[in-house]
Amino acid sequence: MDFEYKQKTNAERAKVEDLFDYEGCKVGRGTYGHVYKGKRKNRLNTDGREYALKQIEGTGISMSACREIALLRELKHPNVISLQKVFLSHTDRKVWLLFDYAEHDLWHIIKFHRSAKANKKQIDVPKNMVKSLLFQILDGIHYLHANWVLHRDLKPANILVMGEGEERGRVKIADMGFARLFNSPLKPLADLDPVVVTFWYRAPELLLGARHYTKAIDIWAIGCIFAELLTYEPIFHCRQEDIKTSNPYHHDQLDRIFNVMGFPQDKDWEDIRKMPEHGTLTKDFKRSNYVNCNLVKYMEKHKVKPDSKQFHLLQKLLTMDPTKRITSELAMKDPYFLEDPLPSQDVFEGKNIPYPKREFLTDDDDDKADTGASKAGGADQSSGHNQPPAKRVRVMPPSTAQNWYPYKNQHIHNVQAQQALQFSSSNIQTSTSSTYTSRF
Ligand code: AMP
Repeated sequence: MDFEYKQKTNAERAKVEDLFDYEGCKVGRGTYGHVYKGKRKNRLNTDGREYALKQIEGTGISMSACREIALLRELKHPNVISLQKVFLSHTDRKVWLLFDYAEHDLWHIIKFHRSAKANKKQIDVPKNMVKSLLFQILDGIHYLHANWVLHRDLKPANILVMGEGEERGRVKIADMGFARLFNSPLKPLADLDPVVVTFWYRAPELLLGARHYTKAIDIWAIGCIFAELLTYEPIFHCRQEDIKTSNPYHHDQLDRIFNVMGFPQDKDWEDIRKMPEHGTLTKDFKRSNYVNCNLVKYMEKHKVKPDSKQFHLLQKLLTMDPTKRITSELAMKDPYFLEDPLPSQDVFEGKNIPYPKREFLTDDDDDKADTGASKAGGADQSSGHNQPPAKRVRVMPPSTAQNWYPYKNQHIHNVQAQQALQFSSSNIQTSTSSTYTSRF
């Protein structure tokens, strides 16, 4: 390349370190990199806005990463974290992603409530907070699903909630696509300490060897998150030390699911017989061991009444047969959301936010994160990257139609949500990436 041209472009290129203050402000560590809280430097910082800067682990950027980032940039919905900018640092070959900063996430929120419960401390949160959280999670996922994007790694740590500011109390689904962002993950599953992998939010069909990710898999995870919001306990909590394999079949995790849900009746899940691991299942499990187990009993223990609308919706989300599991679109129309109190956009409803702000991590914390001690109840996960990739499609510009939301006191005309609702296959172009194979 012409030397002068190289120098000129280098001088013009926006550099993350010139634009943002972030040093010493690490707030998270995921499978794919480190996350920092950043603010624009002095004279650029006119509005005091905060950002999350994710430095992708490793160096360089592949063609498929380029395409994936392009896809993330096109996703636009109030409940999906928005990728603002990508920085390519030519000196050290690092890739930085700039996102909106979200002060809270469901992992920290649930942890806060669990410890308050243990200490018999009352926390003053709006009555409809769980309903608002669930509605917004469904809304974001519906947008992704309508645009043929699967999340594949939904768990409380990936559901962010905005703190004080313009978007106060708004849910942002994060970390989508990162499992698929790179052809081969920068940190392969086998390199991670096995303790850090949790299967708690994995749908039973995946545990039985289903080869393809589907929308229903995201819905199961949402059911798990909903139950956890209602009880402050991971519904399918399973000892972590056994999770040491890349084999999808996981005896203890299935045992935990059956202990809560009961063993599926043949009539309830006819195609279970077709699952790749069905033979192992019949060899390892006895239906008779689970005759007294069902979701009603489990939730009653946690004071959730089986005749309540929230219980009925939970049951629809946690349906064992993936073909019978409710869709995000139908779930959003469920009677639970039409019953008072209605969901609201600010999940905190203008009340004081009782949760502490994110703490900055030190390198010591980082080491702990490496062994899984810092997240997801000692169980961060990086699931999915040993699974087949999903087909990717490009998102087209929004339509201009309107959408009605059942939020309190208002009708929201939301172009993006309507775009999701109105999407037809003719609006979607298949990605040309050779790395994406058809899964739908
Ligand atoms: P990830 O690599 O996306 O799993 O991020 C690792 C951790 O960084 C998350 O669990 C959060 O605690 C934090 N984090 C990620 N994205 C954001 C964001 N946009 N705003 C604030 N914190 C974030």
